[in-house]
Amino acid sequence: MQLISGKAVSADIREKLAQENADFEREFGRAPALAVIIVGDDPASHTYVNNKIKGCAQVGFRSICQKYENGTPQEEIASYIRSLAEDDSVDGILVQLPLPKGYDEKYLLSLIPDSKDVDGFSPANTGLLSMNSPNTVSCTPLGIMHLLKSTGVELKGKDAVVIGRSNTVGKPMAMLLLNADCTVTVCHSKTVNLAEYTRKADIVVVAIGRPKFLKGDMVKDGAIVIDVGINRVDGKLVGDVDFDEVAPRCSYITPVPGGVGPMTITMLLANTLSAARHRLEK
Ligand code: NAP
Repeated sequence: MQLISGKAVSADIREKLAQENADFEREFGRAPALAVIIVGDDPASHTYVNNKIKGCAQVGFRSICQKYENGTPQEEIASYIRSLAEDDSVDGILVQLPLPKGYDEKYLLSLIPDSKDVDGFSPANTGLLSMNSPNTVSCTPLGIMHLLKSTGVELKGKDAVVIGRSNTVGKPMAMLLLNADCTVTVCHSKTVNLAEYTRKADIVVVAIGRPKFLKGDMVKDGAIVIDVGINRVDGKLVGDVDFDEVAPRCSYITPVPGGVGPMTITMLLANTLSAARHRLEK
């Protein structure tokens, strides 16, 4: 069994991004810029946003962080997003999810132009991915494709099972694997006999938010297992995979923490740079 280190893969990509940023600055006279909007005081969301801002600084991007108290009128936030959408010096706009209750997530996200949708959540970007003509792809599944690539294993023809069908992780993950010529099955909470699918799979990606859900007897020997889950149990971070049981059966497995997590923000930085290039090269 070999661990796939998201930390190491992510560090390599960030080093390349810092170099590409220097080229970008030479060419366009400024660094790419990412604007992040956060509403409310959810501690996990604030940690994610702080890490995104730190990530920008690490590779030399400019970042703008706009914090709103829970209760701020939705139209105030909407008009700020509209101003960012028109601001030519801003390349990426991200609204940290989930928003507190009472805000219309769909409406606020719809104000982000496709060209600045660095999360890859817009209907156009989602549609382009499913047409195998991707523009900006959701960061977590995109990061997982880099992790799979880092193993050197040929993906073509592999049986892949994705557990979880969220719009942000499970579905785009399934599309990326399909686009990479895997045969893909998507399982979810209504799947009957889920282990029958996972036991046959060469690649299992688990993204459900249930601590230690995937057990040793649910995977075949030599499988590649990717654990997307982030669960807090007794103050510790635990994935969706029962690592101690599953790892001995795998050819490759991602740990939690240090697997998928570090890749997500790195992909956000990569998406910001390509969004900036696309807009400025037009
Ligand atoms: P989500 O929107 O809550 O979706 C969860 C999915 O899991 C749903 O499709 C649900 O099925 C399915 N599910 C729930 N319980 C299940 C069960 N017992 N058996 C089979 N399927 C089940 O979650 P998400 O946003 O995709 O995130 C999933 C996990 O990944 C969470 O732990 C989250 O914190 C983590 N995450 C990590 C990163 C990272 O950077 N590492 C990024 C994003 C998310 P139904 O559709 O039938 O309800």
